[in-house]
Amino acid sequence: MNTLRHDPLSGRWIAISSDRINRPNFSPIVSKDLSEEAPCPFCPGNEEATPPALETYHEDGRWLVRVIPNRFPAFSGQDSFVLQHHGPVFIDAPATGIHEVLILSPSHDTTWADFSTQQSDLVMFAIRDRIKAHQSTPGLRYSQAIVNAGREAGASLHHPHGQLMGIPIIPKELIEEQGNFARFSGDCLLCVAAAVEESAKERLVHAGEHVITAAPYWSGSPYELLIVPRHHEAHLSNSSKEELSAIGKEIRDGLKALKSHMGDIAYNVVFHSAPYRSTTLFHWHIHILPKLTTLAGFELGTGLYINIVTPEEAAENLRRFIVDEQPNDSQKAAS
Ligand SMILES: [Zn+2]
Ligand SMILES: [Zn+2]
Ligand SMILES: [Zn+2]
Repeated sequence: MNTLRHDPLSGRWIAISSDRINRPNFSPIVSKDLSEEAPCPFCPGNEEATPPALETYHEDGRWLVRVIPNRFPAFSGQDSFVLQHHGPVFIDAPATGIHEVLILSPSHDTTWADFSTQQSDLVMFAIRDRIKAHQSTPGLRYSQAIVNAGREAGASLHHPHGQLMGIPIIPKELIEEQGNFARFSGDCLLCVAAAVEESAKERLVHAGEHVITAAPYWSGSPYELLIVPRHHEAHLSNSSKEELSAIGKEIRDGLKALKSHMGDIAYNVVFHSAPYRSTTLFHWHIHILPKLTTLAGFELGTGLYINIVTPEEAAENLRRFIVDEQPNDSQKAAS
């Protein structure tokens, strides 16, 4: 039977309608190859095609992760954030801020699913370091880190990369999540959610020492994953190296399981960390959102999502591909 489930994080209702997967002409979106800009501006050797790096992470004289200014920034400049009213209903403000590209790897044909532990660590440390740099920039209030993979998920280049935006406003999605932490009647919404998903097991994809991955009860889209650090912390930038490393591996393993189960699919990875100076209750976390279906008129018109794959089925399918790392694996990668 179809059910409505409530997402306590976003406040949305979700219709779990698994019968709809059997309707005629349904097939999940398979990622198409992106047309290639030649030569690829993100490949080693072509560094001069991009603005100079803001930060690089090296090993043996070659870079492994590189952060550069976006050539086509949505947010730029340091003008003060002042609202301008134009008549009774029109308001605007300068889109000031920082827009950076995070080149996740020197290898053109890889994704985070294929990364070594060392590569995944460096990506997480780069995200932390850039958020810290944004935090010390006057006028900015929030950093959004994302990874878009595949054309359907909004990527414009094949080479694995993410984006980091430091912006002068707190976006609606964060305001909603913060409000829902405040409204939750228990201690912390995500500490409680992680604990109950761990004990229920049926939607659990992996439970590690530092982090839990689940296909959450309220999944709004097929194979959506929620990654929650066990340690209660509002800000990604306050997490220890050890935690960040564990979380990076969890992202890697989640993406690897998705790829093993469904092949090359498009997806978005979204990092939600508290606004810089926010002191209200929050617990930072990551959403992995595979792009297997398209939001249609009903979703866009109502904000109520229809999900055709139950999270219980998604978790069961993905768990088969999660292999717990042997302790000496990480030593090997670190040496
Ligand atoms: Zn490339
Ligand atoms: Zn918490
Ligand atoms: Zn979130």
